This record gives sequence, C-alpha cells and structure tokens, in this order.
Amino acid sequence: MTKIGLEIHCQLTNLKSKLFCSCKANYREFEINENICPICMGLPGSLPRLNQEAVKKATLIAMALNCTTPNKIAFFRKNYFYPDLPKNFQITQLNIYGDTSIGGAGSIIVGDKKINITRIQLEEDPGRLIYEGSSSKNQITLVDYNRAGTPLVEIVTEPDFENPKHVREFLNILSDLLENLGVSDPTLEGAMRADANVSIDGGKKVEVKNIGSFHDLEKAVHFEITRQNSLHDRDIEIIQETRHWDDKRKITISSRSKEEDLDYRYFLEGDIPWITIDPEIREKLKLEMPESISSKKERYVSKYNIPPQVADVLSSDKFYSELFDKSHTESNAKEIANIITTDLMGLVDTREKREESKITSTHLRDLADSIQSEKISRISAKNALHEILKTGKSVVDVITELDLGTVSNESELSEIIKEVITSEPEAVEQAKSNPQTINYLVGKIMQKTKGKADPKLSLDLLKQQLDDL
Ligand SMILES: [Zn+2]
Repeated sequence: MTKIGLEIHCQLTNLKSKLFCSCKANYREFEINENICPICMGLPGSLPRLNQEAVKKATLIAMALNCTTPNKIAFFRKNYFYPDLPKNFQITQLNIYGDTSIGGAGSIIVGDKKINITRIQLEEDPGRLIYEGSSSKNQITLVDYNRAGTPLVEIVTEPDFENPKHVREFLNILSDLLENLGVSDPTLEGAMRADANVSIDGGKKVEVKNIGSFHDLEKAVHFEITRQNSLHDRDIEIIQETRHWDDKRKITISSRSKEEDLDYRYFLEGDIPWITIDPEIREKLKLEMPESISSKKERYVSKYNIPPQVADVLSSDKFYSELFDKSHTESNAKEIANIITTDLMGLVDTREKREESKITSTHLRDLADSIQSEKISRISAKNALHEILKTGKSVVDVITELDLGTVSNESELSEIIKEVITSEPEAVEQAKSNPQTINYLVGKIMQKTKGKADPKLSLDLLKQQLDDL
C-alpha cells in the first residue's frame, strides 16, 4: 500500500508583525531587504521577543485540528548553515522534553478517513533566495531577508494518505479551515508550502522537500509514486533518500546530503523562557473560535433548507459565507444562497476581483427581495449583479437605469407571445401535442424581452393562446 505523510508550512499571514520582532509579517509589500531589523537579522546582542498573537493563532489551529495543547511551550534552536538563514539557526519547536510544541496529537476527517496529526509547531520562516541568470554559467543567487522571521506553523501528519487525490482533498479542507479561522490567506504566493514523504509497498521512505504550493504538492506526490513504481517494476531498489521538487521541470531530483535530526544540534533557545499558556487563555480562544465549516453547513441545511451541495460550497468559503450570514433573513436565505453560488461566485472568482467588487449585504438582500416580489427575473438579477459589482449602485437604481424591471403588463406580453407563436409554427404544433416542449416557446419569449418577462404570467398567457388556436 502507498503511504504518504505531509509536513505543511503555513504562514500566519494575518498577523501584524514577525514572530520575534516588530518588522511586518506582510513582507510582500516591501522593496528587497527593507523589512529587516537587528533581531530578525540575528545581529550580536539582539534578543527575540515572542509575538503573543502568533501563539494564540497557532493554538487556534491546534484546537481546530483537535490536537492536544500543552500548558507550557518551549522553543529550540535548529542549527544549520544556509544563505537564507541570517542567524545560522532557526527558532522552532521540538518535543524532546515532553510535549512542548504548540499542538500535540490530533486528527481531521477527510472523506471517510481519519487523518492523524502528529504535532503542530510554531517557528520562524527563513529568508528567500532569488535565482537570476539564464544558464548555470551566469546564474547568480540573490537573497532577500524580508521574509526572515515571519511566523510559520508547521503541521505534521502521520503517513495516512494513500493517493494524490486523497492529499488534494485534505489540502482543500485544510486551506478552507485556515481561512475560516482567520489565521492565514492560503491564496497568497508562498503562504502554503510543504514537504512530503512517500513510500510504496515494500519500498523505503523517500522525502520530497521544497514544494512551493499546494498545487505542486499533489503533482510532486503523483510524480514520486510513479517514479518509485517504475523502479520497482524494473527490480531496482528504492533507496531511502531526500529529493527536491524542481518546480520548473515538475520532477523530483535526488539531493546529495540528508540531514538527520542529530545533525541540526537542536538545543533549547536560551533567549526565550518557557511560556506558560494559561487555561483561561485557551478557554477564551475556544469561545472566540469562529464557527466551524461543518457546523455552518449543518446550520444552512437544517435551518434554511438549503440543498446540501449548495450549503457545502457556501460554508467552505469564508468570504461568501460571511456575506451570506450578513445578508440573509429567514425568508430570503435560499434565494441569497442561490444568487451567491450560481451567479456571484462565477463573476467574482479571484482575490483581485473580490477586493475590487463593490457588493454589500444590502445589495444581496435587495436583489433577493426583488426576485421574490417578482420585480425582476433571475436573468435580469444576474445582469444587475454585473453592474452592482462595477459601480456599487443600489439595486433600485440599477433596475431603473438598465430598465431591468419585469415585463408584467398583460397586453404587452400578449403581443410578444403572438409574435412568437406566428414565427414558430413547428414548435407551436409540437407544444400542442406534447406540453413538455412548451419551455422552448417560453425561452423565445424570454429572448424577445431580454429575460425580463414575468415567467409565471408568460406561461399562463402562452397556454391560453395555444388553447385558443
Ligand atoms: Zn525584524
């Protein structure tokens, strides 16, 4: 059986400052090497000061993943030399003197399988290397320390995954969960990175490092399983090794050395005392914890009778579920869920579009009410949405300005229906013998009125005229 375990690195992107200094956690908005200070550069004499908010956010993640949370946490130095690591050690966590990392054993349900979480640790991100030059001869490596010291949570799982699809399902659930907790924005470049260990039946464990996005993680796991199976089929031994993911060529490459835990010479970080996490703080965090995605889904289905598939889509997206919760009332909830999942999600499908969009909960409420009171048709509502997203104008103004109001004037509709009946003799014959086909004619009426015809009235009038023929 194939076994896959993951180490997910997730930046706490919603924090104001880095893990041990007051430089900004949002390093992305800075010019190269401008978001640095003596602490994150590890200059002699500088002392780290732990970001309390980071401890709280990481504890939230641990609790959401059903992990144990210790009363005391400790930090360790992981020593290694690499250009992106200014101090030559990374401050991280380790469970060597008992469970002192931010989260202990936990679990999460993915599909119908339980994935066990080994532990969760809070640590600092290193800097970033930038490679320039087109060939190996003129290649240069630049280093940007803006990211050094950014708060990072590492989530380590047991090797409980059996295939890449299973990995992808987990990643989808995890990134929705992190977003819902308000701790991280998984869509930011570099916010989610991962290592994976993969072994096939009877083979040794291979670690794949350096996977820069969730998208690539599934690919890397797939590549590695295929590579190991191919070796196995040719009776070539699969050796235990560390491989790196090459994100340009989309393959894994053997890396020469493999560090063991011993090589890192872990020792307690003497500049940071052991931190006691008061049970009161944990209780408070529990109370502050946002409603979980599964409980949201359950609420949408049981309270508002929203179909489970729609509730699933709606509840797993923080942005849209918040918009829904702000705008709906008992009577329009289903309509609003419908507008969001069938129209709005398609129109606003990127981070940029979300930021630019001018839609508010009032717009959604007014739009749903206009549909329910038959002031506009669903097709017109979609046209109105386009305009609202761009301009932020009120629903009433948009309906008037774009003349989107429902055509419900009987004589006006009757004239239009007459025209349709005259121009579609074949369809009329069919509709008379087989009433199931009448929708084609309704479609034609909608076409002529640009989707504005009152659907119920149109159908009634059409049936009447067909009977009179
Ligand atoms: Zn700093």
